Amino acid sequence: MQDTRRMRIRQVQHRKRQQAKLVVGLVLAAVVIGCVLLMWSVLHPNAPQDAQAQGMQNSETQNVESQGIETQNEPVANNEAQIPILPEEESWKTILVNNDHLLADGYVPELESVDDRGFLFDARAAADMRAMLQDARTEGLSPMICSSYRSWERQTALFEKQVEKQQATGLTYEEAYQKAQTVVAYPGTSEHQSGLAADIVATSHQLLDDSQAETAEQQWLMANCWKYGFVLRYPQGKEDVTKIIYEPWHYRYVGKEVAQYLTEHSLCLEEYWMQLEAQQQS
Ligand SMILES: [Zn+2]
Repeated sequence: MQDTRRMRIRQVQHRKRQQAKLVVGLVLAAVVIGCVLLMWSVLHPNAPQDAQAQGMQNSETQNVESQGIETQNEPVANNEAQIPILPEEESWKTILVNNDHLLADGYVPELESVDDRGFLFDARAAADMRAMLQDARTEGLSPMICSSYRSWERQTALFEKQVEKQQATGLTYEEAYQKAQTVVAYPGTSEHQSGLAADIVATSHQLLDDSQAETAEQQWLMANCWKYGFVLRYPQGKEDVTKIIYEPWHYRYVGKEVAQYLTEHSLCLEEYWMQLEAQQQS
């Protein structure tokens, strides 16, 4: 009896040990699984959020596409791809002249008269200027150039005259000099010195102010100048970019390709250069 009892006790003890081993095994397994999960979550902290965000992005894209609206990136990429990049020999057409970009000292292009009053223009663009004026006249209009190429001497004289005029109002030379820069381009910063710009007015209305835009001549020029390679250089709404007031009389030759691009995209020459530089950097 005692043997049988001992055996039973051993069996119970054995079972208990087995059960204890099983519990320990399960606990260990749970700890291992816990550790693995913990490590995974430490190594991939944003994994669930990323997946969620991706899902949201996809659904957004789908929504946008289903509404027939293009995503923002695509037109910008297309626009950049379309920017006309002129070969070196044509780079003179897009030369940027403003307060931050001075003409090379002493720059004088080959010049040619473009009308019967002897106004001079860059010889390489003279034919296009003559064609534009001629076609406007064929339409029964009377455009006339009132300023085109200006030499360094002329621009300097204009500037100095303006400084004197400002001094006469009681300003110091320094103050007058600063004020003059807001009225007359400092020598080297005027597009007129490039030979690629002209002020064109209606013969019947020669005022250089906003009213010029109302003339039939300006209406025709603004609508058609791009066909001849010209743009209205200081358009309305771009004053912050050009830093020049709206001038519905100042036309600038940039060549037909760039003129069409700027017109189609409502860009001024500064913006063309910004886009070009952004594309070349990317
Ligand atoms: Zn001008």
